[in-house]
Amino acid sequence: MATYDYVCPDCGNTVQRNYRVPSIVRNCENDCGFDHYVRADLLAKVEQVPEDARPDNWADLSESHKLLVAMREGIVDLSDVQ
Ligand SMILES: [Zn+2]
Repeated sequence: MATYDYVCPDCGNTVQRNYRVPSIVRNCENDCGFDHYVRADLLAKVEQVPEDARPDNWADLSESHKLLVAMREGIVDLSDVQ
């Protein structure tokens, strides 16, 4: 059976589930405060944010913040992550 990786956007902690949804509601055991784990391939889309759309401090942003930028740029659809 196929499994899908879901990643805590803040710390990268990964869990696997055998169903495919955009994100799962899950409090990270590392106390990250972000209550969703996002499917790994969706999270990977943040790398598609074009250079000129990235804030100056891009490298310092948390993954969850990068995901918000990706949403703002329309790379990740908001409905994908709800
Ligand atoms: Zn975490």
